Amino acid sequence: DLVEHDRVRKRIHNLVEDLKGSIRVYCRVRPMSEKEKTEGSQGCVRQVDLITVEVVSGHRRLNGEEPPDVSTHSYDAVFMPGTQEDIFADCKELVQSVLDGYNVTVFAYGQTGGGKTHTMIGVPGSPDLEGIVPRTINELFAKMKANEEHWTYELKAAVMELYCSQLVDLLPAPRPTSPRGKPKDESIWIPDKDKVQPLGIREVQGKFVVPDLAWHECPTKERTHEIFELGQAQRKTALTAMNAESSRSHLLFSIQISGRSETFKQQLSSKIILCDLAGSERLKKSKATGEREKEAIEINKSLSALGGVIDRLTSSSGMAHVPYRDHQLTQVLQDSLGGTAKTLMFLNCSPADSNWDETLNTLRYGTRAKRVTNNIQRAGEPRSPKAARSPRGLQALESPQAEA
Ligand code: ADP
Ligand code: MG
Repeated sequence: DLVEHDRVRKRIHNLVEDLKGSIRVYCRVRPMSEKEKTEGSQGCVRQVDLITVEVVSGHRRLNGEEPPDVSTHSYDAVFMPGTQEDIFADCKELVQSVLDGYNVTVFAYGQTGGGKTHTMIGVPGSPDLEGIVPRTINELFAKMKANEEHWTYELKAAVMELYCSQLVDLLPAPRPTSPRGKPKDESIWIPDKDKVQPLGIREVQGKFVVPDLAWHECPTKERTHEIFELGQAQRKTALTAMNAESSRSHLLFSIQISGRSETFKQQLSSKIILCDLAGSERLKKSKATGEREKEAIEINKSLSALGGVIDRLTSSSGMAHVPYRDHQLTQVLQDSLGGTAKTLMFLNCSPADSNWDETLNTLRYGTRAKRVTNNIQRAGEPRSPKAARSPRGLQALESPQAEA
């Protein structure tokens, strides 16, 4: 019967999802930009197979005198660059998980210009180029519609930004104490340009909560898109007020779902958080002074804290203490990282050799999350145990012309 069918469907879905692991890492290498091409950059990233990339490090620096370092890095998937549709095809199952009651986080990590915003948001208004956020909204509503006979859902969304250690509600609710809220929208108060309202995070018995975050009702797909877009527009205003750039702050879009089913006598509540993280690049020492230096230190702290949490979650030490407390970023993501939550991390990289050091940093960050041991090799050395056993393979690597 229906209840049994639903139980089995969920069981299979969960088994498949569990096999993929609760923390998934996808590498996405964008195409070479016009700027990189005109500057004479060469590609330094090569896709080896569906899950592996190879990076030739420092071949500009070494000028061919010494064999360059070649490193291989494996993840759950590699896209080079893949279409927006390809990328989302692998996220769809996570949308199903959200509707099955799981918390989900998707975030994009990488240097500024690596393609994070393209992956998460894409090009608004251009259906082929839309990123994960608009596609997730569409998929959620499509799936809810398919279930509407047996389930009723309520969606609420919030848009936050974390700049340095300031968490900002980009769409705060009108407050009784706030004078002259602009009547742009009955549920949203657009604050004055120069008034950015930092949100407090409170810890209640080990759980971090943001009590004043405004959750906006999203009865329709259109309204959900609109909430996200209003948040995006406010982000620009807030950043200007803080004299900051979008690449230096984390954007967090959250959708809360509660569902109830008479048929299945069930209720669920879950949340999906989609984040476009601040650029992971190290600021050049000479540039990092004053505010920019503080910014760089804080971004580094937040990304290290995120790495630390993921590290602990993927380590084999069982019930180890997970350091959510270390930064506002991990505090806000607490209930969407670890436990039964599912996490998908994109590593967004440039293919250009002018960026190889940042690309390598990004890939290493993701490797840490995946706990896959990668070998750094020099060209001419065997790439795999198989190659080592086969003198022919080894020879072919050393001198490609030898066989011709
Ligand atoms: P980030 O948000 O990491 O700073 P962006 O997403 O803004 O980087 O990407 C930098 C540039 O590269 C943009 O002009 C973007 O359109 C382009 N780009 C990024 N990823 C892709 C891709 N997969 N295909 C085509 N262009 C891309
Ligand atoms: Mg960006």
